[in-house]
Amino acid sequence: MAYSQDEQPLPQNVRLSEEEGTLYIRWHDGHLSVYPFDYLRGACPCAVCKGHHRKLDRTQIVPRQGVILVAYDMEGKYALRFLFSDAHKTGIYTHSYLRSICKCDHCPAETF
Ligand SMILES: [Zn+2]
Ligand SMILES: [Zn+2]
Repeated sequence: MAYSQDEQPLPQNVRLSEEEGTLYIRWHDGHLSVYPFDYLRGACPCAVCKGHHRKLDRTQIVPRQGVILVAYDMEGKYALRFLFSDAHKTGIYTHSYLRSICKCDHCPAETF
C-alpha cells in the first residue's frame, strides 16, 4: 500500500476499551497509537481547553485525571469527535493532530 507523507493519516481501526481506559487507533500505514482517556481529554484542541496556546504539542499536554471517554464519532473524513464523562464534546481532533500526539517512542514530539 502506498503511503504519501502529504496524505492525511487515516485511522483504519478505532477501538475504545473502557476496562483499560484507553483508546486505540490503528492507522492505515500500520502504526498503532495508544491514548489513555485522561491524556486524550487533556489534549482537547478546542478553544476553551487550549486557552491561549496557539500551538499544542504532546509535551504540553496535561492529563485530566478521572475522565472517561464515553463515545466517539467520525467527523467527516478528517477528524474524530469525542464525548467525555465530564460532558465535554466540543473538541474536534483531526487525524493529523491525533497522530502528532501519539505517545509512542517511534513518534517524535513535534510541535503541531
Ligand atoms: Zn475542549
Ligand atoms: Zn506513534
